[in-house]
Amino acid sequence: MNYYSTNNKNIKVSLREAVVQGLAADNGLFMPEHIPTLSKSFITSLPRLSFQEIAFSVAKNIIGGDIPETELKRIVDHTIQFDAPIIPIEENIFSLELFHGPTLAFKDFGARFLSGLLGYFAQQQSREIIILVATSGDTGSAVANGFLNVPGTRVIVLYPSGKVSEIQEKQFTTLGGNITALEIDGTFDDCQRLVKQCFMDVELKQKLFLTSANSINMARLLPQSFYYFHAVAQLPSNKYPLTFSVPSGNFGNLTAGLLAKRMGLPIRKFIAATNCNNIIPHYLNTKVFSPQPSIATISNAMDVGNPSNFARMLDLYSNSHTLLSNDVDGCYFSDDETRDVMAGVYNQKKYLLDPHGAIGYLGLRKYLNKEKEQIGVFLETAHPAKFKDVVEIAIGSSIAIPEKLQGFLNKQKMSFPMKNSFDLLKEFLLK
Ligand SMILES: *Cc1c(COP(=O)(O)O)cnc(C)c1O
Repeated sequence: MNYYSTNNKNIKVSLREAVVQGLAADNGLFMPEHIPTLSKSFITSLPRLSFQEIAFSVAKNIIGGDIPETELKRIVDHTIQFDAPIIPIEENIFSLELFHGPTLAFKDFGARFLSGLLGYFAQQQSREIIILVATSGDTGSAVANGFLNVPGTRVIVLYPSGKVSEIQEKQFTTLGGNITALEIDGTFDDCQRLVKQCFMDVELKQKLFLTSANSINMARLLPQSFYYFHAVAQLPSNKYPLTFSVPSGNFGNLTAGLLAKRMGLPIRKFIAATNCNNIIPHYLNTKVFSPQPSIATISNAMDVGNPSNFARMLDLYSNSHTLLSNDVDGCYFSDDETRDVMAGVYNQKKYLLDPHGAIGYLGLRKYLNKEKEQIGVFLETAHPAKFKDVVEIAIGSSIAIPEKLQGFLNKQKMSFPMKNSFDLLKEFLLK
């Protein structure tokens, strides 16, 4: 299978190049040349298959042939090391919990699949692969934990000193091994600029095998389609039509759902649910795509003013607003609505939403109020304890920190403080 750039379908690269490059040379996003459909019998057999079996079949369908099956199986099994259970909330509303991985957010799936693939590519060459990642919090922890102890890889996380929460910082500064954290005296934008400069530096590119673990990487997107299949496998049968509501920022998760549908999963509708950074709901409602500077909200992992996967969504629907909006409805919600629904669902259903999942739930309920005879699933993208302060204020009582998070908090932070200087960073990388 080849991958083309959304900016130019004539630029085609192999899986290896698409994964190592991340972004196409013309700044387009990579898309698979074909999206083969899975058989009807596979879809009907879903309830009898394990999550790993489902993931392997889906992976084989889309990237089989590019790497040996035994390797693909190993990578899929490395990715699917924790469950994504469906939890009933109301008669027709289900939560798909994606926070049972090491850093308690869905980004663990993408990071682990990417690390598996890069680990495989590393075996085929003598040089170590160095993954450079700038983070404002969550991406760094998912990537660092995903690559921990993967042979042939080394991760350098750049983060702004004093600007990430203690719990986020502990998730990528306590690991050791092949993970190094650089604590930059600057902002997140400075960290991102430093990483970009590394990729443009001729000497670094010559001497080192550098790659990024950016969220636009195809290898982070593909495994996110696995859990849509696993969700359908767990739902009560014959209750279609089915809607998925996806709390969104860069729209990777939603795009992965659209891929799952294209591969044959019977999903009637997707809800693109956002906070007040409503660029895509606005596009769906008005046909106008107008990126804006991002606005800070309590669902901060979705504070995105220029959603990067929009190009992929359009590409999947031949640039047709009509076709895209046939499958996707958009809606958005304020912080007040988010806090109110967290309190309401906690009090009435005894279910704790995080601020991102709460937006997914709101979008789903709004849609199901109009479309009665349907069932819906919202994606619960992070564990509520990751946003302890916001959640506790919303529900008016305190919540426990799960053991996994507590485990990070008890460990010793290890970081290299560094001035916001490209020369110092370059020296560090070359030594
Ligand atoms: C990254 C993230 C999102 C947004 O996902 P996209 O794929 O960028 O739309 C939502 N919730 C949480 C908790 C996240 O970390």
